[in-house]
Amino acid sequence: MSARIVCLPGDCIGPEVMAVAQRILRELAPDLELEDHLFGAAAIRATGDPLPDETLEACRSAAAVLKAPIGHPEFDAADVRPEQGMLRLRAELDVYTNLRPAKQGAVDLVIVRELVGGLYFGARGVREDGTVFDTCEYHPSQVERIARRAFELARSRGGRLTSVDKANVLETSRMWRRVVHEVAAEYPDVEVEDLLVDNAAMQLASAPEQFDVLVTENMFGDILSDLAAAMTGGLGLAPSASLGDAGPGLFEPVHGSAPDIAGRGIANPAAMLRSTALLLEHGLGRYAEARALEDAVDVALGTTPTPDLGGGATTAEFTDAVLQALAASD
Ligand code: NAD
Repeated sequence: MSARIVCLPGDCIGPEVMAVAQRILRELAPDLELEDHLFGAAAIRATGDPLPDETLEACRSAAAVLKAPIGHPEFDAADVRPEQGMLRLRAELDVYTNLRPAKQGAVDLVIVRELVGGLYFGARGVREDGTVFDTCEYHPSQVERIARRAFELARSRGGRLTSVDKANVLETSRMWRRVVHEVAAEYPDVEVEDLLVDNAAMQLASAPEQFDVLVTENMFGDILSDLAAAMTGGLGLAPSASLGDAGPGLFEPVHGSAPDIAGRGIANPAAMLRSTALLLEHGLGRYAEARALEDAVDVALGTTPTPDLGGGATTAEFTDAVLQALAASD
């Protein structure tokens, strides 16, 4: 089945890893229509807007959106920044469920991060006396829908869900905990536990193999998922899928645009390719191709590691290894 995939090549190493994903997709799923659109710093330079209307419309009508990392030091202190486009895109597509799998050896967990609420979307500003504020806001319905997604996922996996909050301090967390337990009544087959976020960080760092599915609010999920990525091989390996109830999902690596290594041909494209596998699976329901790609990436990580993993392979050599592994599995 043909489908139109909007590709957002992003900034710095973004276009380098996007080119890899497109090369692999042309081999693995040649019927897919891959369409590039401006986004991030590149879009600000061209149009003044990190998320031009034309790009947003293309995303809305696509089967799925494949996004490379955005962000450029040139805009770090600017009023209009690439990251604003990213937050807006997530909100416009209402992709409130962010799945961040982390898998290595005995560790096999998924962090389910709420993506369109909380501190990143609350009221913010500067008071007359110079005080700067950001506010964390959640409506119970936002917690209910993400909790339900997390319970469904836990049910399809090991049947264990850890809800992470800071209920000893925050009002939003107390409501979060209450709503998670209300939803839990619908999932008696799932074992649920609460964990304070500071303890969750310590447990993830010391014994990540104890977890199956974790569900948490936006900022806690942002931080904990990077920690989980570090525990399972590093940022260059970690993919993510952002899903709503209807409309296209957004698939992107967890890592940023890595300006320090841009243009050197040594970016690790594994996270981008794993995000592409999540797109095939969750975005298009093409499970066999998703599994083939995941397996080929695992083979290439073993034989042809890039410098961030202690190896010496270039991005191009890693890509060739993935293509070879795919051909061998045919
Ligand atoms: P980063 O993830 O870009 O880089 C952190 C470190 O990890 C760097 O040393 C980098 O070289 C390395 N790294 C990251 N991805 C790699 C890969 N695929 N292969 C090899 N090494 C890799 O984080 P940062 O430096 O804090 O942020 C840089 C820019 O990216 C900023 O503008 C930030 O806002 C942006 N950012 C974007 C996203 C996104 O688009 N989703 C996410 C995080 C950060």
